[in-house]
Amino acid sequence: MSRPAQSKAQNDANARTLRALVKQPENKTCVDCKRNDPRWASWNLGCFLCIRCSGIHRSMGTHISKVKSIDLDIWTPEQMASVQKWGNRRANAYWEAHLKAGHVPPEHKIESFIRSKYETKRWAKEGPPPSDPSVLDQGGAAASPAAAAPVSAVSSERCGGR
Ligand SMILES: [Zn+2]
Repeated sequence: MSRPAQSKAQNDANARTLRALVKQPENKTCVDCKRNDPRWASWNLGCFLCIRCSGIHRSMGTHISKVKSIDLDIWTPEQMASVQKWGNRRANAYWEAHLKAGHVPPEHKIESFIRSKYETKRWAKEGPPPSDPSVLDQGGAAASPAAAAPVSAVSSERCGGR
């Protein structure tokens, strides 16, 4: 029953991949508060976080968010795959789908912002998170908001979002 230990070479490779991921423009800022240099991640949500927001994620429980350190933890292949296929841009294309683009929550409201975002899914796209998040690239925050509406976007436009 014992799981074969992951090799040191594999762990080192993962660490390099993680460090490269948080250097990408979309992952350079915390997915929630937009502070620079996130060193934590929620691997099930596939996004990168600052240490303060990672604490709030932890407090919601692992049924919502599973937090790991970029620098200190050992990552499994499943965990790596999740952050590689999501990333902050796609995560917010889902979790902040109905929030104004570029919204930065005020500091004193960050905890309630995070709880609204993930616990009550206040701004999330309809339906569960897609198993292939690349589908979020098309209709989502990609190009300019003025771009033509994608043909697939038939679902009822919630009345103006306000
Ligand atoms: Zn943060």
